[in-house]
Amino acid sequence: MNIARFPRLRYGHLPTPIELLKNLTSHLKGPNIWIKRDDCTGMSTGGNKTRKLEFLMAEAQDQNADIVLTVGATQSNHARQTVAFAARMGIKSHLLLENRTGIDDINYRQNGNVLLDQLHGTTIEEHPADTDMDEAMETAANRLRSEGHKPYTIPGGGSNPVGALGYVNAATEIVTQANDLGVPFTHIVHATGSTGTQAGMVTGLKGTHSNIPLLGISVRSAKNIQEENVFRLAASTSELVDCPGLVSRSDVVVDSNYVGEGYGIPTEATIEAIELLAQKEGILLDPVYSGKAMAGLIDLIRKGMFNHNENVLFVHTGGTAGLFGYTSFFS
Ligand SMILES: *Cc1c(COP(=O)(O)O)cnc(C)c1O
Repeated sequence: MNIARFPRLRYGHLPTPIELLKNLTSHLKGPNIWIKRDDCTGMSTGGNKTRKLEFLMAEAQDQNADIVLTVGATQSNHARQTVAFAARMGIKSHLLLENRTGIDDINYRQNGNVLLDQLHGTTIEEHPADTDMDEAMETAANRLRSEGHKPYTIPGGGSNPVGALGYVNAATEIVTQANDLGVPFTHIVHATGSTGTQAGMVTGLKGTHSNIPLLGISVRSAKNIQEENVFRLAASTSELVDCPGLVSRSDVVVDSNYVGEGYGIPTEATIEAIELLAQKEGILLDPVYSGKAMAGLIDLIRKGMFNHNENVLFVHTGGTAGLFGYTSFFS
């Protein structure tokens, strides 16, 4: 694995800290719970997309793109971070946002990530739920080409092999920090959606022979579908880093028991997890990803999945800007 050779825009605040959640650990009386602060990566309130965009936007720059296009749900963190990168690079951006959740409240439609998208100076086209967003993006890109632009398109969540490189790197960063801290992490847990985070991380963990099991908590798809999708991207990411066959199907483990009604709809346990972390640790989770993943981790701890002497690392993937789009879910 040699990823230093890939072009990269070093905009992120890296490495992100790892902290012990002392109060949460004693509250739950389970294993030691640690948190990897990928909510602190910088770029428009931070989050996991910064790591992916460092590689994706460097590729856009290499291709002399003058406008970047991407897709996401209305409150997409990926969209917000993409337009922040474009702003700093001095190129245009264009977003295609899908009202995937059907939530129709003014803060959801205009506040949170949407407010920040607009502040960064992008253009937005809205689409109803279940639109073929890839096709819509291709149509928009073709229109721009015919007008003489050089568009660069990024798939939803920045989840392709180039984007996943950001999380190959994150895995090696975690392994180094574990050595420095002298903490042998026995599990890594995080939210999985468009698959790039888990695919990159499983590739990086295998590539460093770290043997730390990784668990993705799904925010959308059923276990089998999500595992297959993560595995497929991990396989192509492994090829990109010259290690074909590095990841086995059995390395990819997803728990889809915490999705609830669907993508972007917080469950009661999601809201409880957000309030618990805010009140015990002063840390803000988000209603779509990290809150759901933390709700899953808390439930698994309560069910006795981990021993007291274990060290579980929760990767906080960010998304806190989304809280301001979800005010109606908090009393
Ligand atoms: C996109 C996102 C995720 C999921 O990462 P994927 O690479 O899409 O699986 C998790 N948390 C937050 C806050 C995100 O924005």
